[in-house]
Amino acid sequence: MPHDLPKAYDPTAIEDHWAEYWVREKLFAVPTPDPDKKADAVPAREAAEGLDGQSAFTILLPPPNVTGRLHMGHMLNQTEMDILTRWRRMSGRRALWLPGTDHAGIATQMMVERQLAEEGSSRQKLGREAFVERVWEWKRHYGGAILDQMKRLGASVDWSREYFTMDERLSVAVREAFVRLYEQGLVYRGAYIVNWCPRCQTAISDLEVVYDEHKGHLWEIRYPVLNNDGTDSGVFITVATTRPETMLGDTAVAIHPQDERYLHLHGKKLRLPLMNREIPIVLDEWVSREFGTGAVKVTPAHDPNDFAIGMRRHLPSVNVMDDRAHINQAGGAYAGLDRYVARKRVVADLEAQGLLAGVKDYTNNVGHCDRCKTVVEPRLSTQWFVKIQPLADKAIAAVEEGHIRFTPEMYKKTYLNWMENIHDWCISRQLWWGHRIPAWHCAVCHQITVPKPGSTGDPTHCAHCGASEITQETDVLDTWFSSGLLPVSVFGWPNIAEGAPSTDLGAPGPSHLGTRERAPGLDSETWARAQARRDFDAFYPTSLLVTGFDILFFWVARMIMMGCWFSAEVPMPDGSPRPLAESVPFKEVYIHALVRDANREKMSKTKGNVIDPIEIVKQYGTDAVRFTLASMASPGTDIAFNVARTEGYRAFANKIWNAARFIFMNVDRAAEVGITVDPSAFGSMPTAAANAPLEARWIVAELHSTAAKVNELLESYRFDEAANAIYQFFWGSFCDWYIEIVKLRLDFEKQQAAESADQQAGDATAALTTLVQVFEAALRLLSPFMPFLTEELWHAVYDGNPPAKSIALTRYPATKSREEFERQVGGIGFDEGAFGQMSHLQNLIGDVRNMRKERGVPEREPVQIEVHPRSDAVQKAFSENQNVIKRLARVSTVKFSETELQDPGVFRYLNYYEVRIDYKVIPDLPAERDRLTKECLRLEKIVANDERALNDPGFTGKAPAHIVEGRKKQLAENRLLLEKARAALDALPPE
Ligand SMILES: [Zn+2]
Ligand SMILES: [Zn+2]
Repeated sequence: MPHDLPKAYDPTAIEDHWAEYWVREKLFAVPTPDPDKKADAVPAREAAEGLDGQSAFTILLPPPNVTGRLHMGHMLNQTEMDILTRWRRMSGRRALWLPGTDHAGIATQMMVERQLAEEGSSRQKLGREAFVERVWEWKRHYGGAILDQMKRLGASVDWSREYFTMDERLSVAVREAFVRLYEQGLVYRGAYIVNWCPRCQTAISDLEVVYDEHKGHLWEIRYPVLNNDGTDSGVFITVATTRPETMLGDTAVAIHPQDERYLHLHGKKLRLPLMNREIPIVLDEWVSREFGTGAVKVTPAHDPNDFAIGMRRHLPSVNVMDDRAHINQAGGAYAGLDRYVARKRVVADLEAQGLLAGVKDYTNNVGHCDRCKTVVEPRLSTQWFVKIQPLADKAIAAVEEGHIRFTPEMYKKTYLNWMENIHDWCISRQLWWGHRIPAWHCAVCHQITVPKPGSTGDPTHCAHCGASEITQETDVLDTWFSSGLLPVSVFGWPNIAEGAPSTDLGAPGPSHLGTRERAPGLDSETWARAQARRDFDAFYPTSLLVTGFDILFFWVARMIMMGCWFSAEVPMPDGSPRPLAESVPFKEVYIHALVRDANREKMSKTKGNVIDPIEIVKQYGTDAVRFTLASMASPGTDIAFNVARTEGYRAFANKIWNAARFIFMNVDRAAEVGITVDPSAFGSMPTAAANAPLEARWIVAELHSTAAKVNELLESYRFDEAANAIYQFFWGSFCDWYIEIVKLRLDFEKQQAAESADQQAGDATAALTTLVQVFEAALRLLSPFMPFLTEELWHAVYDGNPPAKSIALTRYPATKSREEFERQVGGIGFDEGAFGQMSHLQNLIGDVRNMRKERGVPEREPVQIEVHPRSDAVQKAFSENQNVIKRLARVSTVKFSETELQDPGVFRYLNYYEVRIDYKVIPDLPAERDRLTKECLRLEKIVANDERALNDPGFTGKAPAHIVEGRKKQLAENRLLLEKARAALDALPPE
């Protein structure tokens, strides 16, 4: 990378190049560590600095759906993860960011079904096997899109470890988790009310149901009460419902046992209208006496509350709908009708029979399928469940005991609250795309056969009766079942060697774990298990999870449950049992905020205010978009994304680009006269000698203090403050002050000409060295936030001969201790230190600039100033930096006064000094003489006219007295004006 950068900063020209380079060079691949070979893990410099290169920073990418496209939420999430990973990596940690995609059962199946529909086909026509093959084909073609977008955005992930949740390796983990839970009695099959999507034709999770307010009706229906002999008594009980068609499946009417209105009906039976079925009146405390008539119809097969009543009161369940929410055979005359057609028919028939007591408008919340927006039908069906205890208790303990920390902290409460009220988890989905449940049904004895833990291969015979007529369960597992296992499965669970492998596993190299070539003589199974052992030891528990609130329950909670449960079976590296603190899937959870539009509105397709990150990136560059997000990201605060800010940060990048061009120009100028900067001076924290010029000591101090601040802020996820600190440093301190001052020192010719005895000798070289050193360090400081720009410029600093393949592999600027840093820059105290002196200098320059503006001094005109410093330190700062004052404030001479300045009109007073500028407005003399001469002539004419009139008896005798008086007054005024103008003209200096 040569010094001669293109004149203009053009992000598109550099970003594609580096994005591709980072992937091609596998810069962020983290091989399986080899504990015996410490040397290959800790670079020499880190070892020398005593940094622990062994400690890992592990972070899993929340796997986007394989069908996904990058949106602003991803961009924020990935920017935050990339900043943290790059920062940790540069801070000497073994940083592993592990990417992958989720097979996303429902979403992907829908996508392919839509494709088939366009072709006039369907999954049913294709059959299961061919359909699944078709989905794989789809995945091969379109599946990687979102990860390609990530690559372009420069995410520093280890691509060699990329997974897909349906990969063979991860599928083994899914099957093993299921069979172990089954063996432990924690998986069962049962009839249960589930949220059923008639379009997707599968059960969906409570979390996948979205509720919308819906204006509907409340129908009141009269159920005839029967006499003991089964005849109609002529008395009715009225119930109300928003879904009248479900009455076809009613098996009771429930009333509160203490409801006085109905005491006389206890033990009575009713006739279910339309179906002519006898149903009982049951007593249940759950019924609210205040709501409606106080009597409720009970449909156990179509309502979760009714299902609970049915269980308590031992009622039968009559399911009256099929998979598509059409009425089935149990619905009598209505069989075959769609649920809404049936609703109309039921209402009409009730009305005809005089059993409709009333219809009211009614607004209620209706659940929709999150995927396809179809109204969800609560429906009884046979499903597979995970018994949530004791998994949930462990997951609660993990958080309560502080083994997992949430940021912002409020999510701890949200999590615990949810976990404490959690129900058994329905894990079966009636889809074809996903992990098919490893359970076999026997056609002979109807029992279920599930393979033993640790077994491979599918069973061929029923484990109960030995029959060979067994068929695999058609349901697949909930997608979150597999993604909940990721923290353990990506590191090789369950196939992990018992103890730490003592043998040499082979040299680093590519493999499915991205790691090592198998050593000769090791069979692949042993080798893989040994690899997994080392990966697990090194990377589990992971350090951090960065994710959105929307999947806190879906995913985060399930990873905690499954991680704690299954990893507990993996002993610690020394063979001891794994404690809960080491069983957790991650130590920290950072919940990021929402990205809203500039008006703080939630982005939505219907509102049309969705910002496409790829479009913004095309316009302003990835770095500017990343910086925008970072500069607004702080825990718990939503981001109002405003492109005006992105424009501003593009200007920031441009400013740095121009600074680089200035620096390289000077490096080249110096080289022309034989002055070179030793590149070995770069790469660490710059220091400044106590006798170095003020600006050098100051910028080094600023760098140290900014680095200390940024490191501290990133520890607590204050991305915004960290980004702003770097921005202030780079733009304000470095570009606006330091570079402007250092220009004075870069006189290489003068240095060449001077003899070594001259005090100036070496100044230019020293200044140039500090300039490049600080710039190089500042690039490293900024690198996690703007990786592309800094990569480009960092390579240019080394003129194509960098000490590493990437700035991302260098060390992050850090200050070890305040004392050490103070020692390095000769103190930082406000009175004597670099910060104090520089701030006096900056204040003085600012004051002079303001005074110049106030007094209207033309911009290019130098002025003389007089200063009275009020302490020796200030005196020293000013007198040693007169050149700086002169240059930055356009001052011709600085006069120092030992006494206080007296003229109150022209000086400024601060605690540390007084200053006045010596400047009088000097007009343009010839123009002024010309103006005044013309003015005198004009006035002379007027005065002469007035005099003539007043001397004319024709005027004075005829005109009214007040007119004559007025004229006299006018003459007097004009004489005065003329006098003044003549005096001013006389006062002008002679020509
Ligand atoms: Zn659906
Ligand atoms: Zn059997």
